Amino acid sequence: MVKYKVNINKDACIGDGICISICPEVFEFDEEGKARIVEKYREEGKEYTGLVDASGELEDCLNQSEAMCPTQAIKLFKLE
Ligand code: SF4
Repeated sequence: MVKYKVNINKDACIGDGICISICPEVFEFDEEGKARIVEKYREEGKEYTGLVDASGELEDCLNQSEAMCPTQAIKLFKLE
């Protein structure tokens, strides 16, 4: 199992939904139409910071989301 910290820079997010299409298991829209972390993966309840135990498809979709975000609003940190 690989663990990732996921940060979304809400100010940089333009709400195009690319990450949500690629990885709906982790990302969803907030009330303002920006991306946030789904409740299951929030770190201490924070909407824009996640802790994800990822392997296989989930790891792939996280990496794709970081790579495809047009404003580099998503940052992944591999923890273990
Ligand atoms: S891909 Fe980037 S800009 Fe688009 S919704 Fe996700 S975080 Fe926001």
